Amino acid sequence: MSDIKDRLDAVRRRIAAAEAQYDRPAGSVALLAVSKGQPATAVAAAAAAGQRLFGESYVQEALPKIEALAGEGLEWHFIGRLQSNKAKFIGRRFAWVHSLDNLKAAEALDRHRPAGSPPLNVCIQVNACGERQKSGVAPERVPALAEAVAGLARLRLRGLMTIPVPSDDFSEQRHAFGIVAERWRQCRAAGLALDTLSMGMSRDLEAAICEGATIVRIGTAVFGPRPRAPNRTP
Ligand SMILES: *Cc1c(COP(=O)(O)O)cnc(C)c1O
Repeated sequence: MSDIKDRLDAVRRRIAAAEAQYDRPAGSVALLAVSKGQPATAVAAAAAAGQRLFGESYVQEALPKIEALAGEGLEWHFIGRLQSNKAKFIGRRFAWVHSLDNLKAAEALDRHRPAGSPPLNVCIQVNACGERQKSGVAPERVPALAEAVAGLARLRLRGLMTIPVPSDDFSEQRHAFGIVAERWRQCRAAGLALDTLSMGMSRDLEAAICEGATIVRIGTAVFGPRPRAPNRTP
């Protein structure tokens, strides 16, 4: 498991180098380690190496890990497709949801967030380039959804998230992130107190940081290849 520590250190160095290169303050980009498809032992190894934020895409897969690592002071972020029958578990067990893309799901999370917990941090997922993928709202629909979500008492709207079409071309990567960053600035100018841009994965974190990412979501570069296909039932 020392390879997880080595890979974590390498990712931390990539983040620090990108912050320096693109005039971002040192330490302004948080690392969310995406542990979907990884066993709890891998999460424990990353936690032992100082990693605190973890991302999961499938509720059924995540709950036993959250249970196994309770008391370790970890913060769990849900980054997968939202299904209404999972809103209860997500609202109770996660600190963040990055993949909000409709008001109905937001209202369900708001209803299920326990009164004794702090508000659930949420990001709206944006489908930057109108590609075929079904998740995410079109950029032009972001302001209206953001206003509506910001009005829900048990949610705290933190910002926007995106998963662009995979590309190895730096300027193509930047283009998609730039579209989302532009909407983020627009929402802030309209008075929404957004502080989070969740964008950048293993292959494109530099382009995301260049365009203003504040959280990068990194799976394979931290944990290596996913050992088993993630459980497809969310
Ligand atoms: C799997 C996943 C990641 C991590 O992807 P890697 O390419 O392994 O870094 C990030 N964000 C989301 C939403 C994911 O589903």
